Amino acid sequence: MIEGLVVKSYGKLCNVKVDNLTYKCEVRGKYKFSNKFSNPVVSGDKVEISITNKNNGVVENILERKNYFAKESIRDKKGHLIGSNIDQTLIIFSIKNPYTKLIFLDKCLLSSIFFDIKPIIVFNKIDLLNEDEIIKLDKISFEYKKAGFDVISISAKYQIRLDDIKSKLKNKSTLILGNSGVGKSTLINQLSPYSQQRISDISQKTGKGKQTTTFSEIFKINKNTLIIDTPGFKDFNLYLIDKSDIKYQYPEFNQFFDNCKFSNCSHINEPGCAIKKQIGDKIWDKRYNNYLAIIEEYT
Ligand code: GDP
Ligand code: ZN
Repeated sequence: MIEGLVVKSYGKLCNVKVDNLTYKCEVRGKYKFSNKFSNPVVSGDKVEISITNKNNGVVENILERKNYFAKESIRDKKGHLIGSNIDQTLIIFSIKNPYTKLIFLDKCLLSSIFFDIKPIIVFNKIDLLNEDEIIKLDKISFEYKKAGFDVISISAKYQIRLDDIKSKLKNKSTLILGNSGVGKSTLINQLSPYSQQRISDISQKTGKGKQTTTFSEIFKINKNTLIIDTPGFKDFNLYLIDKSDIKYQYPEFNQFFDNCKFSNCSHINEPGCAIKKQIGDKIWDKRYNNYLAIIEEYT
């Protein structure tokens, strides 16, 4: 058996890269069905395979994941793995063409934190913004920075601040999130000439027009720098996070917890809530309102 990296996964099949060779692999029986996840393997997994022929192999073992990012599967209540062994998420967002609701950003942020992954917020397409929209974006950036997040505004198309992005990605494994149309492919193509070449495909079959990502897929920028591109999704249900644990995924709440009158305060309508006291001051009302909306989705 040899060790490899899953660079693309689709259902119970995946492409595994070993050195410079890629094998299309089936997943061994015991891994095919999991109680936890709807997909047994995902890009980022380290696996052991046995090679069956020049292009094919079988995944014999999935090595323990350092971490993973998952959302709730639409088909069942299991988790749907998006990527694994990740250092950080790059959440790509645009406030124009398309406009994405901030609640989606908040869900990506809180899931990242829950799964032990550092999130980075990227506002793309700043070249499209007029003066009013720039003011609006500045306000949003200000609030998220104040909440403790790493925020960067870029234009992937016109290469504004891409060096900052590059330095953030260096020697890390980064999961890219964002709904479709925000510029994920454009950014990835700008980051490295090598990224144009999808490392996951055994043979490059093109000619189908624009390739849309339907599965997570790894791009290698250099030896230690990996990007996991994900299918664009707009909204999702949280996986594994208890309703009562949502409040712990908000960095800006942390310092005020102890001041709530009740130690189990959910910061919704309890008297003497220190979090509610901070709304409009240390806590942005939009973040708080989306917190309530996310909790509401559970019931
Ligand atoms: P994806 O679905 O997230 O991969 O988005 P794409 O990379 O396919 O981009 C969607 C559209 O937005 C394309 O027409 C891109 O040319 C355009 N686009 C991407 N980044 C920028 C940007 O920074 N500025 C502008 N004006 N357009 C962009
Ligand atoms: Zn409270």
